[in-house]
Amino acid sequence: MSYTPMIQQYLAIKAQYQDAFLFFRLGDFYELFFDDAKKASKELEIALTSRNGGKDEYIPMCGVPYHAAKQYIKVLIDKGYKIAICEQMEDPKQAKGMVRREVIQLITPGTIMEDDSLQPKRNNFLAALSTYKDGSFGLAMSDLTTGETRVTLIDSWDGVIQEMDANDVRELVLEPHFDVRKKEELFEKLNTTFSENESDQIPDQLSAITEGISQEKLLHPLGRLLNYLLSTQKRSLDHLQQADVYHINEYMMIDQHSRRNLELTQTNREKKTYGSLLWLLDDVKTAMGGRRLKQWIEKPLLNQKKINQRLDAVAALKQHLLERESLRELLGNVYDLERLVGRVSFGNVNPREVVQLRRSLEQVPEIKRVLAELDEQSLSEYEKEMDPCEAVRTLIDRAVVDDPPFSTADGGIIKSGYNKTLDQYRDASKNGKRWIAELEASERASTGIKSLKIGYNRVFGYYIEVSRPNLKLIPEGRYERRQTLSNAERFITPELKEKERIILEAEEKRVELEFQLFSDVRLKIKDQATRLQKLARLVSTLDVLQSFAAVSDRNGYVRPRFSKGRTLTIKNSRHPVIERVMRRGTFVANDFDMDESCDLLMITGPNMGGKSTYMRQAALTAIMAQIGCFVAADEAHMPIFDQIFTRIGAADDLVSGQSTFMVEMDEANYALSHATQNSLILLDEIGRGTSTYDGIAIAQAIVEYIHDHIAAKTFFSTHYHELTFLEEKLDRLRNVHVGAIEENGTVVFLHKVLEGQADKSYGIHVAKLAGLPDHLIQRADEILRGLEQLPDSERDAQAETAAAEDEPEQLALFAESRENSGTQVLSRSEQKVLDELSKIELLT
Ligand code: ADP
Repeated sequence: MSYTPMIQQYLAIKAQYQDAFLFFRLGDFYELFFDDAKKASKELEIALTSRNGGKDEYIPMCGVPYHAAKQYIKVLIDKGYKIAICEQMEDPKQAKGMVRREVIQLITPGTIMEDDSLQPKRNNFLAALSTYKDGSFGLAMSDLTTGETRVTLIDSWDGVIQEMDANDVRELVLEPHFDVRKKEELFEKLNTTFSENESDQIPDQLSAITEGISQEKLLHPLGRLLNYLLSTQKRSLDHLQQADVYHINEYMMIDQHSRRNLELTQTNREKKTYGSLLWLLDDVKTAMGGRRLKQWIEKPLLNQKKINQRLDAVAALKQHLLERESLRELLGNVYDLERLVGRVSFGNVNPREVVQLRRSLEQVPEIKRVLAELDEQSLSEYEKEMDPCEAVRTLIDRAVVDDPPFSTADGGIIKSGYNKTLDQYRDASKNGKRWIAELEASERASTGIKSLKIGYNRVFGYYIEVSRPNLKLIPEGRYERRQTLSNAERFITPELKEKERIILEAEEKRVELEFQLFSDVRLKIKDQATRLQKLARLVSTLDVLQSFAAVSDRNGYVRPRFSKGRTLTIKNSRHPVIERVMRRGTFVANDFDMDESCDLLMITGPNMGGKSTYMRQAALTAIMAQIGCFVAADEAHMPIFDQIFTRIGAADDLVSGQSTFMVEMDEANYALSHATQNSLILLDEIGRGTSTYDGIAIAQAIVEYIHDHIAAKTFFSTHYHELTFLEEKLDRLRNVHVGAIEENGTVVFLHKVLEGQADKSYGIHVAKLAGLPDHLIQRADEILRGLEQLPDSERDAQAETAAAEDEPEQLALFAESRENSGTQVLSRSEQKVLDELSKIELLT
């Protein structure tokens, strides 16, 4: 026995879409069969059934109604799946034999166009990669929803991961037989969906996108990307913008760990935008401004001139509050122009969205007027470049009613006066309806039946209805009976049917014509896509600039100045995010004062003292400055950093042992091998993942290496006071510490960064406060003094021995380093005190 013809058709199509769910259209349903059905029924939580397919065993099957398919597609896309939409290509009633079916579109995470599956303030990039023999990679990206397209060459695999991470890439198109381990790594780190496409030649019909690009290594990934899009989307891709060639070294490099650590776009623990730098700086008024802002944060600039151009504009907008407020109001009326244009081109824009486009365009002359009034050089370019796309606005205004329906199925879209024929259809149906109303009146009069009425339904069309008691009043032969109800009868007349024909025909033609006219409007707008996209770019940029101005104004930020040399001096610097979430005025401002002669800061002081906050604050200030925003300080002079590296322990690192140490060393290694003199390095408590003296040794070696071989601006926090002696040894290293005092028997963290090293006996001091036995405190003091008297070189060696022989020595340290305190040799009472101490730490 063989499968039925339909199942054979299914299998033939499915064979071409093995890595996708095949949504196979059967009447009003999309059906899934075999393994697809088993898997989809689980993922979608729908019933799994089965059907006879011509063989003995039944075939697993599940289905979703076609009108509700969107929501199911969204669920699958969110989980990273692909869906091939297979439609009936002819009317089943008219088909001879099997209905012809074809896949009309492959929907994938990187090509989804439905609003429900997209985040307004996030791009949705599809990328394609080409690998070259010399170890370099070509990476091309397109956001199908906005048309943005870019391409770059990257010389390392790390760089590829970084670049994909910084761009919200959801799907990656690879050459066949791509390295499996690399794929696994990408999936693990970025949760990427993969696709394949062999051809990397630029398709003729899309050659405009690559105009001016001649480098083969850039053309290959673009070719792969475009071929994939053409073969999966099977429709116009005219809105894809010309590919923008960029070099990754035009932007500050921030590796994936550091992005996470610094919480640029989401917080580490909760993975939420709230509490991130993106959240802080987001006071944009449009969704496209939101996407632009995120792009900027992911890619701080290096070019001082470009940074200053942004800062000039922010300064102007910050200064002129009234105009800024007017701009914000106008921007608030602008819809997502970029994605609207995308939908216009893609062919799935609805009438409401076209009206949104018109409303958005109406704001542009006003925006230009406010910018002109501002009369600021930094903004005049925007004013000049902004093209209100008047033709599109008037076209929509003339053609489309103000409040059209979402759907194009029932008309009601096109304004009267726009098209003569349409007006005639409307008149015909209107006249017909009037004639019917008149007929009703005259029939009532002539028959004397007051309750006689003319009604309409889909099955019988127009009819005259007379209630049962009045039936006798109807003159013989006047009406033809059509339908009998319980208490009335329905009739027609040939005249009525003739009018009905005219009315219905006119209605049908009207709906058809409206659809056609709407499609024409759409095509005419599509012709202007490039101009609209350019406008969208300017508006979204202006939106980000005003957001920076508004946030900077509200929070008292200053304009950063860039020093030619390598001086980093910031007065009253604050951590911008913590400052915002804390009660107003409670964040303690600190200075950064590192001139040419100082590259490394060794920061000591107790846990919870504010060390890591201070370090992060430096990085966030640098990033804010280099994206063109003002910074949280009273004055800021800074170099332009080419890269930022961080090794900042997450709280949950504290408990895990060796594996954490490995991560630590990996990150340190990454920083040491990539950093330049112009980089910023943050190393928080490095070496704490291993035993104390191991840790100290490694930490010291790292500091020395940076000092001698890299000379990047480096912040190094540690609770190993032993390391502070390095100040004497390394001439560009300085000690600072975070202050803490005792107040009414408890420790108070001042969060103030002070010159010099922390008090060595700080730990003992805290121990005393905690009420540890006197003899124990005395012993700790003794050990500490012993250690201090040793010369540097011997101290390290001796300390190692001391640590091994005489565990309580570590009391000097354990106040700050719970995880290394060697608790097993403490007596029970000592252990108890230790616990007490931990509590204090947690409390403060
Ligand atoms: P450390 O790295 O020294 O352990 P953190 O930087 O994590 O300390 O800071 C500990 C807590 O102190 C944080 O929760 C933070 O909110 C608060 N804090 C840090 N610096 C300041 C400051 N300058 N002003 C006010 N609070 C601060």
